[in-house]
Amino acid sequence: MRIARYTVEGKDPAFGIVELAVDADEHPDTIAAITGDPLVGPVKYTGERHPLDDVRLLAPVIPRSKIVGIGRNYAAHASELGNEVPTTPLTFLKPNTSVIGPDEPIFKPAETDDLQFEGELAVVIGRICHQVPADRAAEVIFGFTIGNDVTARDLQHSDGQWTRAKGWDSFCPLGPWIVSHLELAEAGQLHITTTLDGAVHQQGVTSDMIHPVAELISFISNFTTLLPGDVILTGTPAGVGPMLPGQKVSVEIEGIGTLTNPVVDGAVDDAFGAEG
Ligand code: MG
Repeated sequence: MRIARYTVEGKDPAFGIVELAVDADEHPDTIAAITGDPLVGPVKYTGERHPLDDVRLLAPVIPRSKIVGIGRNYAAHASELGNEVPTTPLTFLKPNTSVIGPDEPIFKPAETDDLQFEGELAVVIGRICHQVPADRAAEVIFGFTIGNDVTARDLQHSDGQWTRAKGWDSFCPLGPWIVSHLELAEAGQLHITTTLDGAVHQQGVTSDMIHPVAELISFISNFTTLLPGDVILTGTPAGVGPMLPGQKVSVEIEGIGTLTNPVVDGAVDDAFGAEG
């Protein structure tokens, strides 16, 4: 299933199941509303259905506790930035307030002159877990989505710690939906393509991960309890680079979909606004 969060006609956000049409000329892609939150408990169809074009998709999950990022998990990417490949996974956290959904703007802060995209496979955790053996990792995965680990590369270097460089509001686009039907083995064979205004910049395959998904879940859950809705960003392939206000960045992962966001100048402007 493709599980999305959406809003329609100004109503509160809801979850829905996306059904892609086999023949788009005959039937539009649709989204069927479900009750409740599939990360919390059983859900039912409400009977409400909309053409996908009529709704606004939101981030498919707002992590309740954390997004765990993995640095340098593709050898070619570590090498392009002049870094050694770490022997154990290199982890960092992004706050849940950095999450935005499809088509929402990535804000380029005035403090950076080198805002970069990092297209990544994102894992959504489905249950409370700790110390998960790698051979049981599939049991704790709710599904897979696409993430863009937006990074202010200059601040990453000057700060040393990565919190600000990767944690700014809007620096974690997620979406367009969570795919719950991919087997772990299939998720380890997916092509990732990142484009900027249609020009291809990153082309990778998840089988090139140094530490594959099951190993990452085991490693991370050894030091921190994972909660339903927590997200793991599994690292980016080679080809990262700058993006500028006015450009559009898209991350496509075969079998999942495409996540597109515009880049705009300036800070998040509704300082006290909060969108669900
Ligand atoms: Mg990254």
